[in-house]
Amino acid sequence: MPSLSTGDRLPRPSRAQRTERIASRVQAVPASGIRRFFDIIASMDQVISLGVGEPDFVTPWPIREAAIRAIEQGQTHYTSNFGLRELREAIAVELERRYGLEYDPESELLITTGVSEGLDLAARTVINPGDEVIVPDPSYAAHAPAVVLAGGTAVPVATAAVDGFALDPAAVAAAITPRTKAMLLGYPANPTGAAPSREALAPIAQLAVKHNLLVISDEIYDRLVYGGASHTALAGLPGMRERTITLGGFSKSHAMTGWRVGWAGAPPDIFAGMLKIHQYAMMSAPTVAQWAALEAVRAGEEHVAAMREEYDRRRLLMWRGFNRLGLPCAEPRGAFYAFPSVAGCGYDDETFAEQLLLQEQVAVVPGSAFGAAGAGHVRACYATSYDEIEEALERIERFLRNAPLAK
Ligand code: PLP
Repeated sequence: MPSLSTGDRLPRPSRAQRTERIASRVQAVPASGIRRFFDIIASMDQVISLGVGEPDFVTPWPIREAAIRAIEQGQTHYTSNFGLRELREAIAVELERRYGLEYDPESELLITTGVSEGLDLAARTVINPGDEVIVPDPSYAAHAPAVVLAGGTAVPVATAAVDGFALDPAAVAAAITPRTKAMLLGYPANPTGAAPSREALAPIAQLAVKHNLLVISDEIYDRLVYGGASHTALAGLPGMRERTITLGGFSKSHAMTGWRVGWAGAPPDIFAGMLKIHQYAMMSAPTVAQWAALEAVRAGEEHVAAMREEYDRRRLLMWRGFNRLGLPCAEPRGAFYAFPSVAGCGYDDETFAEQLLLQEQVAVVPGSAFGAAGAGHVRACYATSYDEIEEALERIERFLRNAPLAK
């Protein structure tokens, strides 16, 4: 018998074996472009972070209290795989009231572990190996990977600052092939702040109908639109209800990132597929978080409005600030990000972000982390206090004085 005492050399996997044992679709996903910055930030003091896309607010007290009540009442078991019935019913009422969208809480609404899980379920339910999915470029860093991890191919369609990062229907039409199965859209948009009008979305929806495409619509920022803009639910456009998977959540609107709860609305056949994966992979979303989310839907409105009002103040400060400093920035109409161009100051976006962090301790995310068309921009999140944004702008001003193409 070979002995296994310490000191014996057990065979270790070779480099080739270590590569082979990771599934190719996982290998196909590049490591997060944002991670490196967060590692640097973690090792520094005095950093003003405009990097992380997360509300600085703590979850409003009544929502936390509902969770405490749930714990006191012993709500510590799994819920139904579908999610808490009361929560599904409350979301259905809200969607109808807000967007005129009717979802049956019994067969079309699923409570998920955040929109993150909803994205994964949607992608895995509809994508076959080799299917192409159109994804705007730049877009949320998890969108294209969700497609690739499901075995599909993400087909980026570039958008540009001059158009306010709107998706050009002609560019979408040119990207459609016989293999195109779906589009994965996310409006209001991370990282650009684009919040297209109903009129702007209509031709994109028409293309989906014409080519019989599904649409995965990540509407997590639906409640965060500003300056008179209003959110259009894609599923509410003609012909879209039966081909759209709508994803929504509480992380951003109700400052509930850590609770891990969201929802997905889909036609019954797609819902059934998503439920199948969810019940085996997740079982149910966290129970206490679902009770908290129920309170968020029932009574969270005034808190959402108050946070939105504060984001709006910060948005104007940041957007005007960047333009004043010579970093051209399209008006962000939704979510809580500004996406200024840094191309004119002589740094590429990665170097800009790295040097700004090292020289002035301000963290922003390089735009290329969100796709090739994001290059030359940086993402700055304004879910940070007004005072910190003011201070960050002062530091950026100082930083720009020493940039290679300082004006
Ligand atoms: N979708 C978008 C567009 C996001 O920006 C984020 C978080 O940054 C998520 C989804 C993740 O949402 P959740 O916390 O509900 O998983």
